[in-house]
Amino acid sequence: MAVTENLIDEKFDVLVAGGGVTGIAAALAAARQGARTVLIEPRPFIGGNAATGLCIHTYFTRYGKQVVFGIAQEIVDRLTELGGAVGHVPMPQGYVYAVTPVDADLFRMETTAMLAEAGVVILYNTTLVGADSIGGEVQRVQVCSKNRLGYLNAKTFIDATGDADLALMAGAECREGWAGTGAMQPVSMMLRAVSVDTARACEALAEFTPAYATKKGCDKPIPIYFHGTFTRWNKILRDMGVYDHDDHQFWTNTVWPNQLNINASRMANVNGNDPVALSQATVELTKQLQKLGQFLKEHIPGFENASFIPNAFVGVRETRNIRGEYELNEEDIRAGRKFEDSVGQACFPVDIHHPDGKSQEHIDIGGDGAYDLPYRALIPRGFTNLLAAGRCVSATPYAHGATRNMAPCMTTGEAAGIAAALAAQGNTTCPQLPIELLQSRLRQAGVYLGDQVSAGAATVPSK
Ligand SMILES: Cc1cc2nc3c(=O)[nH]c(=O)nc-3n(C[C@H](O)[C@H](O)[C@H](O)COP(=O)(O)OP(=O)(O)OC[C@H]3O[C@@H](n4cnc5c(N)ncnc54)[C@H](O)[C@@H]3O)c2cc1C
Repeated sequence: MAVTENLIDEKFDVLVAGGGVTGIAAALAAARQGARTVLIEPRPFIGGNAATGLCIHTYFTRYGKQVVFGIAQEIVDRLTELGGAVGHVPMPQGYVYAVTPVDADLFRMETTAMLAEAGVVILYNTTLVGADSIGGEVQRVQVCSKNRLGYLNAKTFIDATGDADLALMAGAECREGWAGTGAMQPVSMMLRAVSVDTARACEALAEFTPAYATKKGCDKPIPIYFHGTFTRWNKILRDMGVYDHDDHQFWTNTVWPNQLNINASRMANVNGNDPVALSQATVELTKQLQKLGQFLKEHIPGFENASFIPNAFVGVRETRNIRGEYELNEEDIRAGRKFEDSVGQACFPVDIHHPDGKSQEHIDIGGDGAYDLPYRALIPRGFTNLLAAGRCVSATPYAHGATRNMAPCMTTGEAAGIAAALAAQGNTTCPQLPIELLQSRLRQAGVYLGDQVSAGAATVPSK
């Protein structure tokens, strides 16, 4: 393979590794501060796990107060305008106050347009494979792109790989899996069903009151979120060899009257950092979802004419987290703790799919239902020009159950983007960046830090 010295002969202000929701928010925020920004992504599209068909969880505390704004809200507004979202919809018996489904393809397309508008250089099919650092300062990163290895140079770097790949390669301390055992939450693959009569499917499957929305072009409200278990069909599912245990849970969402995104597969004991294990999981979960599609078609009203498309890649919930200058912990989440160096708030409950792959639990956020995301949790210990955001921020496995969801990922991504831009422009280090400056830029960008009277244009739905 050809080795070139630099893939691009330019020293960027900010380099963002990973183009999931976190990397999108980070790159967008950095570029909007005027920083020359490059985003690298191994897949030929951006979105990461958000490109698999999910609700963005969540903007509202369980008491009905919206605390997530900024880029996270802007994306929903833009998608709603396009018909790719239906805003925030009350969830009468839900584990969250409101749900926010988005169409995966429109999400990918619209966020690509937003990055292009902001002037971000996107390098697709480009994987981070190494990082040179001296004394806690990242000098450059090595990437593998089509037919060549090369280096990219920047002043500040953001790890938005979900797996803390950049932090690990740069020599930062990371935690992999649960303390002691190394266990990780199971992986899952999303199933997309098209040509579904979603109203009948919802009637047949929903165990709890579904969420409905009225969409332009539809003559009546459509079910956009429902969930439950397959307990009533345990025997059939066992006979068909779909699952290795009973009472499997499922969650569905959509913004269309005839399509459903179904989250109903799980595989335990898969290390999402192990390419061989992940490849085997891709084969196994595709098979599991093909069988599930057959079950739905044969046994559940509404799916008679449906076609089923297992997602192209496996969704990974948990792998590695950086050890930051602060590690968010169980007490912080249970108390709904607030921090002086807050860069935003989060409110999705702790969501832990147990590593045995058989059950899942939600634990509410304490206090007023929201906790602050401290800037220190984005700074890998001992590093001066490296930040981590999204799934791999510094958090214990329990706290990670809350921070790993998309709204907090976008909030930490946006904060990392603004911080990295300010550090690059001000010739200062990330840890030394004055927190008041970062917080004031975040407020200007519409991010809610818990102290404004209002932020953005909140549309608080009533249950
Ligand atoms: C099955 C499943 C269901 C979920 N359901 C929900 C839900 O309903 N609502 C919700 O809010 N959250 C949900 N989550 C959690 C949420 O989707 C993810 O935690 C979140 O999207 C993570 O975003 P991220 O950008 O930090 O990481 P990712 O989405 O994992 O993105 C990381 C990106 O980095 C890239 N990358 C990886 N390694 C490298 C490298 N070496 N070099 C360069 N780039 C790299 C990847 O290709 C990817 O695009 C779910 C997760 C799973 C797995």
